[in-house]
Amino acid sequence: MYKVGITGGIGSGKTTICKVFEVLGIPVFYADTVAKEIMCQDALLVEGIKTAFGNESYFEDGKLNNKHIAGIVFNNEKALAQLNALVHPAVFRAFDTWEQTIPLNTPYTLKEAALLFESGSYKMCDTTILVTAPYEIKLKRVMERDRVAAEQVIARMDKQLSDGEKSKLANHFIVNDEQQSIIEQVLALHQEFIKSAEKLKGTKL
Ligand code: ATP
Repeated sequence: MYKVGITGGIGSGKTTICKVFEVLGIPVFYADTVAKEIMCQDALLVEGIKTAFGNESYFEDGKLNNKHIAGIVFNNEKALAQLNALVHPAVFRAFDTWEQTIPLNTPYTLKEAALLFESGSYKMCDTTILVTAPYEIKLKRVMERDRVAAEQVIARMDKQLSDGEKSKLANHFIVNDEQQSIIEQVLALHQEFIKSAEKLKGTKL
């Protein structure tokens, strides 16, 4: 099935945009939400995390000890890369399993991931969308949504690739600046993806 990857910086509004695609009947795989779930459910991943970061990575009830993991990977690039190397393949497996549940008459699917480009998972998509918004708007949105200080949001933003870097790898763009209509932009892309998906199907027959 034709796969569209969608990403954007923190507060760009990628989840909001995905909800519009969902209204159009497009199934969305939320990679970051799934990653959190499978860190407690995927046996291979749980074992990998325990081996790498110790049995104390989990509480007795099987819940992830976020504080322990965060304490190790925070400001430790090597440990963070090690965690990502365990989590990303597990998310790819979960996506494959999820995709098998999608009805065959679905035109295409969306995969939403904050680290679509950083994780390399964009290579498994047929095309990609980058959601952009001005820096000040992103900052304000996240401060309001998460009720956190600007410094905390900026620290999270600084850990991500810049829009400039991401735009080199993106095929399509949605500008979510609260000036341009996101519905019109989504509808235009929706039509384009339906056509591309049909073309792809034609070449595979
Ligand atoms: P994160 O990477 O932090 O998960 P995100 O890119 O998925 O963020 P959203 O959660 O979709 O971003 O949006 C961030 C906040 O901004 C939310 O509270 C959302 O309701 C709001 N928001 C997004 N787009 C708009 C818009 N066009 N107009 C008004 N508010 C918006």
